[in-house]
Amino acid sequence: MSVLKITKVGDPVLRQRCRELSLEELRSPEIQQLIDDMIETTRAAGGAGIAANQVGETVRIAVAEVRPNHPRYPYKPPIPLTVFVNPVIEPLDDETVEINEGCLSIPDLRGTVDRYLNVRVRYLDRDGTEHDEIKRGLTAGTFQHEVDHLDGILLLDRVRDPKTFTTWDEFNRHHRDAFVAHAEAIVARVGS
Ligand code: ZN
Repeated sequence: MSVLKITKVGDPVLRQRCRELSLEELRSPEIQQLIDDMIETTRAAGGAGIAANQVGETVRIAVAEVRPNHPRYPYKPPIPLTVFVNPVIEPLDDETVEINEGCLSIPDLRGTVDRYLNVRVRYLDRDGTEHDEIKRGLTAGTFQHEVDHLDGILLLDRVRDPKTFTTWDEFNRHHRDAFVAHAEAIVARVGS
């Protein structure tokens, strides 16, 4: 496994819609290697997830994983390692919540976006098995963030109020406590 270079905002690859993979491609050694490398890269960077175009590949693969006491997002409920291929997300209703997010491709910036509170995610895992799951709360936000990447969308595009942009230091200094209380209220309500 190897740690790959993470593409940064301004790289046109982050603005491309990634293409679906066939089952045959998914099972190829090259794609399985890419998945291993994406997992390694997410962990090395301390991210909560990564999409293939964040390592320069325009295929619909993303990874999410939040371990307890995550270094960048300690308030996020754990997400077991999930590899999702050809994901399709549908909101279950119209309700949205504000979530303050960061992104490995946008160094030292955070901003507040609206995310659907409850979504259905259908995807293939790395073996090609179909999954159909409900995700809620902050976890739903993480899946929406990664699928946005596969559609060429960055959190920058979703920020409604540019005044919510902060560096990580200024977030910790001025906004963290209020956001953590807000995040805990979401988790208390929907369980994730
Ligand atoms: Zn991101």
